Amino acid sequence: MSSPDLFAALKSRFGFESFRPGQEAIVRDVLQGRDLLAIMPTGGGKSLCFQLPAVLLPGICLVVSPLIALMQDQVRLLQDDGIAATFVNSSLEPGEIGARMRRSFNGEFKLLYLAPERLLHPDFLSGALPRLLQAPGVSAIVIDEAHCVSEWGHDFRPEYRQLAMLRQRCADVPMLAFTATATPRVRADIVRQLALRQPAVHTASFNRPNLFYAVRLKNKRTYAELLARARRAPQDAGIVYCLSRRRVDELAAMLQADGIRALPYHAGLDPDQRRLHQEAFIRDDAQLMIATIAFGMGINKPDVRWVVHYDLPRTLESYYQESGRAGRDGDPAECILYFGAGDIRTAEFLIQQKVDPATGGALEDEQRMARQQLRQVLDYVESTECRRAVQLRYFGETFAGPCAQCDNCREPRELEDRTIEAQQFLSCI
Ligand code: ADP
Ligand code: MG
Repeated sequence: MSSPDLFAALKSRFGFESFRPGQEAIVRDVLQGRDLLAIMPTGGGKSLCFQLPAVLLPGICLVVSPLIALMQDQVRLLQDDGIAATFVNSSLEPGEIGARMRRSFNGEFKLLYLAPERLLHPDFLSGALPRLLQAPGVSAIVIDEAHCVSEWGHDFRPEYRQLAMLRQRCADVPMLAFTATATPRVRADIVRQLALRQPAVHTASFNRPNLFYAVRLKNKRTYAELLARARRAPQDAGIVYCLSRRRVDELAAMLQADGIRALPYHAGLDPDQRRLHQEAFIRDDAQLMIATIAFGMGINKPDVRWVVHYDLPRTLESYYQESGRAGRDGDPAECILYFGAGDIRTAEFLIQQKVDPATGGALEDEQRMARQQLRQVLDYVESTECRRAVQLRYFGETFAGPCAQCDNCREPRELEDRTIEAQQFLSCI
């Protein structure tokens, strides 16, 4: 397809003026019909990389997505753009599922989103799938959030493993895997577990130039700082991540008492309440979400202006993913990590809790891995180097710096002023 045609389709079907970095090359490979693995940071624009080809190619594109909320969201956005897309999942009545499948057989949709369980269901594999392959034809099978296939990823879902069987059943259909998880181990696992055939591998830069990064000392003024930030721009949506449910509840209550529209979110709340709080945040009825890491994946709120870590993240990768929920619209946003000496003790305490439930003995390997990860987080926190350079190095990317968009680049410190606790911790592992 010629470049002008591709750009015309980008503009007319999706309303975008240009491709984001990496998108065009992926779209071109997808149009060629080969297997592919694309690694692109959260907010980088992975969906478009399969949605645009799906619109242009004959047949229907099947998209496997791990969360019902995620697929509903994407389908709604596509429908808003006038693109024929639908989903089937357990939230629908059987009659409705039947109707959507019949329309799929009729070639009325360009994209069909499915949970992995549905695609792998024997009825689907032996009935609907062969019918779709015959007519209207399947343009591609997309595995979104493909890191779910790997135990080394942060969100392993055993049913993703079974997706490899699609490779034999749909021998001529390209399989496309998309993820924001960049570690080489997860990458290799995706290719192997999904049995991708000599896939084109695309790795976009993980740099998020619109995010400002800073690390601040956690002390008794921290709460006042948070409050001031929330009051300074009451229209700015923010997320504050805390380690424990108790801390989430406490902080949300304090902020509410101080007149901030803050809501708690953690796995201890019942599902209805979680959904209500999430919706309030997305609609901007709540300004701040005070949350454990249970909050985040699949939340499509592009205009989050700040993400605070009130406690140390577990790994640098989780820090990147969680802070990366800021500024997905490309406008400037801030990521602030608060760090206090006590955090190391808490982290070490949690690591020591990793024991075999049967014997009570330490899970040595897990503890060792967790300490290594903690060490990387501490290196980041204590570093005087460009924050971006440190983060990107972790993903195997070289970034020369300075970035002018982090505390260290804006106000360089002369000396390594590690906290005594960090020195002690780093010297004993
Ligand atoms: P990812 O799945 O990589 O996390 P999404 O596909 O959800 O990211 O895209 C993130 C945001 O970027 C969405 O709001 C999307 O509309 C927007 N977007 C994607 N591609 C472009 C583009 N070429 N130009 C402008 N905005 C884009
Ligand atoms: Mg996505």
